[in-house]
Amino acid sequence: MWKKMKWLSIAIVGLVVILVASQFWTHGTSGRKLNNVTPVSVVNQINVSLNKPKADSDAVNIPTTDTALLPVKTVPYKSYYRNKVIVLMYHEVTPEQIDSGTVLSSKFKRQLALMKAYGFKYITMKQYTDFILKGTPVPDNAVLMTFDDGYESFYQYAYPILKENNIPATMFLIANTVSNPKHPGIPKVSWEQIADMHKNGIDFYNHTFDSHVIVPVNASHSVKRPTLQGPIYLDQLKRKETIDEFKARVKKDLSQAQTLIKEKLGNDMDVLAFPYGSFSKTTLDVCKELGIQITFTVKPGINKKGQLNGFRVNAGGDKNNPDALIQLMKNGVPEPKVKKTRSPFDLMNEGPVGTFLKILPKQPDRYQKHEHPSGKDDIVIRLKGKSDSFERKNGADAA
Ligand SMILES: [Zn+2]
Repeated sequence: MWKKMKWLSIAIVGLVVILVASQFWTHGTSGRKLNNVTPVSVVNQINVSLNKPKADSDAVNIPTTDTALLPVKTVPYKSYYRNKVIVLMYHEVTPEQIDSGTVLSSKFKRQLALMKAYGFKYITMKQYTDFILKGTPVPDNAVLMTFDDGYESFYQYAYPILKENNIPATMFLIANTVSNPKHPGIPKVSWEQIADMHKNGIDFYNHTFDSHVIVPVNASHSVKRPTLQGPIYLDQLKRKETIDEFKARVKKDLSQAQTLIKEKLGNDMDVLAFPYGSFSKTTLDVCKELGIQITFTVKPGINKKGQLNGFRVNAGGDKNNPDALIQLMKNGVPEPKVKKTRSPFDLMNEGPVGTFLKILPKQPDRYQKHEHPSGKDDIVIRLKGKSDSFERKNGADAA
């Protein structure tokens, strides 16, 4: 009998504890309130947290599941940055996740909805180059949209969304892959599709003629590197290119693309995005000789007047969180907190280290087909570590 009473009282006390705890859980002062709100309130909560000045940590708390489906509320206009341009970089936009480099159409739409709600203003490549070269004013919160590699999926999925929203954009073409179904890799756009898009606000610029590859730079082929970065290994001649040969090769390739794109579209200026964001001082010299004044890397940052080799923020990829992206943009894309190093190699290559390593073993097929497996144009050479020391000693062109 007493034993039964004892168990009963323990059960009652336990129940009371649970009830009190659940009340505290619901009405407590912590951020757990998010658990009990409707989707609309979730967005408001996000908006509130996004408005805090130091919100990097808040961004982490943004629900990552299905925010694409949440409604977006317009907020009062605010200038987040002035006399600067954020350039966003995309690869493929697809309705389903194809690989780590693509961003879902639903997420892309949410990015656009959020940019609209927060008063970001799209500019054209012409406005961008005038701003960078001459300081011609751009609107506050200016954004330039760029899409790399000329995938056919752009015509199918991203372009209709951009057109519907009257958003100008630039696509960087690997010129020799256009209307060239025999070219290996993911299907690319045709000149017909390009002509159609060009009438509706899409500009097309240089992403090389056919130099969007990573090739061996030593006899054993143990070290590979993007071809625009420095001399490559010539198997037939059993030696490396000289600097002059490297220059001549790059010059020929870039001018071939320039000529073809100009012929097809009548562009009156030259703009180049470096494949894998990879370049060297020699590459920049060649660009100068060809009259290519504006180039783009894949290093994140914001662009001011005079920033000829532009920073770009990766807004694509399967890891993209539209709300976190907007938060980053509202903060004016602060410099990433990375270790400073004096290596010339680090100055010439962009993109976070390690992504490539993670992606490569998992998706070898996709890697071979896809020019931007990580969406971040990472660097192969870094994976070689200390065994490849020439650049650290002599600079990128020493090989
Ligand atoms: Zn590319």
